[in-house]
Amino acid sequence: MNRDYPLERVRNFGIIAHIDAGKTTVSERILFYTGSQHKIGEVHEGETTTDWMEQERERGITITAAAITCFWTQSTEPDKKDIAKKARFNIIDTPGHIDFTVEVKRSMRVLDGAVVVFDGVAGVEPQSETNWRYADEANVPRLCFINKLDRTGASFENSYASILERLSKKAVRMQIPIGLEGAHEGVVDLLKMKAYHFEGDKGEKVTESEIPENLVEDAKKHRHELVERIVEHDDAAMHAYLEGKEPSVEELKSILRKAVIANQVFPVFTGSALKNKGVQLVLDAVVDYLPSPLDLPPVKGINPKTGEELVRYASDDEPFTALAFKLQADPFVGQLTFFRVYSGTLEAGSYLYNSATGTKERVGRIVRLQADKREEVKKVFAGEIAAAVGLKDTRTSHTLCSEDAPIILEAIKFPEPVVSLRIEPKTKVDQEKMGMALKKLSDEDPTFRVTGDEETGETIISGMGELHLEILVDRMKREFTVEANVGKPQVAYRETILGSSEAQGKYIKQTGGRGQYGDVRIRMKKMEPLDPDKKIAKNVTREDHFEFINNIKGGVIPQEFIAPVEKGIREAMSRGILAGFPMVDISVDLYDGSYHDVDSSEIAFKIAASMAFQDAANRAKPVLLEPIMKIEVVVPEQFMGDITGNLSGKRGAIEGMEERGQSKVITAKVPLSEMFGYTTTLRSMTEGRGSMTMEFDHYDVVPQNVAADIIASRK
Ligand code: GDP
Repeated sequence: MNRDYPLERVRNFGIIAHIDAGKTTVSERILFYTGSQHKIGEVHEGETTTDWMEQERERGITITAAAITCFWTQSTEPDKKDIAKKARFNIIDTPGHIDFTVEVKRSMRVLDGAVVVFDGVAGVEPQSETNWRYADEANVPRLCFINKLDRTGASFENSYASILERLSKKAVRMQIPIGLEGAHEGVVDLLKMKAYHFEGDKGEKVTESEIPENLVEDAKKHRHELVERIVEHDDAAMHAYLEGKEPSVEELKSILRKAVIANQVFPVFTGSALKNKGVQLVLDAVVDYLPSPLDLPPVKGINPKTGEELVRYASDDEPFTALAFKLQADPFVGQLTFFRVYSGTLEAGSYLYNSATGTKERVGRIVRLQADKREEVKKVFAGEIAAAVGLKDTRTSHTLCSEDAPIILEAIKFPEPVVSLRIEPKTKVDQEKMGMALKKLSDEDPTFRVTGDEETGETIISGMGELHLEILVDRMKREFTVEANVGKPQVAYRETILGSSEAQGKYIKQTGGRGQYGDVRIRMKKMEPLDPDKKIAKNVTREDHFEFINNIKGGVIPQEFIAPVEKGIREAMSRGILAGFPMVDISVDLYDGSYHDVDSSEIAFKIAASMAFQDAANRAKPVLLEPIMKIEVVVPEQFMGDITGNLSGKRGAIEGMEERGQSKVITAKVPLSEMFGYTTTLRSMTEGRGSMTMEFDHYDVVPQNVAADIIASRK
């Protein structure tokens, strides 16, 4: 079976936006225009296709990054039926809310390009900057779409200026609007020097005409600028241009395409998704300027067996390599595992190798999600995105490959969860269902963790923020019908040590019959960062926050008791030493001990190890750690003093103050514990005119006096 679409006509892209900028509406229009959807669903009616889940509809935000496939023939193609002229779009949904930036980061890994949507009244907003930065980090080529030009107060000029000023000087306008606010009717394309209007109920008919008289001068001026900005990227064109020979529109497009793919230019388009203006031209631009998988460098990975570096090109002839980037429960087919194929092909019903777990799995069915249906596919090819049904052990960020050509692609890095809460099932029945529900949800979302408190038997869930947990609890109640009592959100504190120590743990019991005997000696210190040039020694197990070194010589502790020692230490670590929070970044060296031929047992060594750990930790300067958040507050100037004063009172460190348009922007680092409910405080301090964003920055030691209170409250 051959591929149904040439790879150069495939576009894997995402739509990235600040919440409320209009991402859902833009996606809606795209699905409508690409013909896979037959009516336009308005967001407020809760009919959109990308927002599958109920609570997303209620909140009007998109949480999950599902991939949707659709097809597009450029408005300029005369023969729309000719399949060779069609492009296949795999649109990867990305959420706008800060608590879900992990989803944005995750999707950046698998998309090849993005359309960034802006609100034409507000211009660049704080979240747009965060997302832009993530896209920069991942080198994702971008187009900009300034939306909502029909709104009162909309300004293409101001929004465009805010992009240049706050995001990138490499942005360049491709269009100018025809009319604003109530009079917004279309756009002028500066390359072609034509006006475009969108007729029909849903703007489905794109018409081309001469530029309105009053815009001709403006259009000429901006075209001049655009052409200069394009020819800069091609020496030959630049020379010709300087000699007065302007390249053709086709030549300009081809130079621009290269520059966009190289992240040298960000073309800016405009319109109004709600009023059906301009979206089709953005889709044309996706085809013209965003890369196909062929335009990108090959992916890199390592051979899990030899550690050798490998590359894979986007070709069907290479060995199969894919990245699982999203697990999603689907009401019709069960669990879907979305994956991006980097090289090779995969057939439904065949086996693949998961190099992260080292296991083989059978792919049942392969589906592609379209706006209104699930299309079953027999085979997926290099560069494509699809979802597999039937994978059992595959999680987000696992590499899938063929067994005879194993490879591990660089894993997606997820931030640590910083907020947690206690959750208690209402009845026995709920208890069972809750366990299952939480497992499913944490399988889907790597930033959502579930842990148990052994002493109280309570369950603790942790995530990226208050809203993140609220939504997950909501899903648990709704999708899995679990009744539960939910505690207040709490800071996810941690514990660590600043010093080093040694201790012996001895557990001996002699009560008639067979006794118990375990004896271990350990050294403990803060874990050092890994030297990248050094291989991890055979006798060391090392994870993100824990290192265990087995230095037992001459069998003073028999081999079979080493694993129980490590287990006892891990368990003691998870219980903490000061206030019951998990301990991190500790290195334990097991260097001596003794055993008894008859009385020694796994359990005795586990207990002895845990005793040694507690004793050592107590004497190694244990401290509490708390998450410190990076926040950005935007307020009108008159509130500046109050806000900075208030933040300083919250143990905050002000890092910067700058002007942005009419407002002041304050950046600061503040402990998370001081930030609960801050949006409400901010609103009341600024007459509702302040806004803020917050993201996790790092963990830091809690000051002594604050720590004492936390410890006392946990006793
Ligand atoms: P998202 O949060 O980025 O997905 O944004 P939505 O698509 O849900 O849009 C947020 C709100 O803005 C909704 O009430 C939309 O109807 C509205 N909206 C979206 N696009 C436009 C537009 O072009 N013009 C106007 N006036 N409103 C829009």
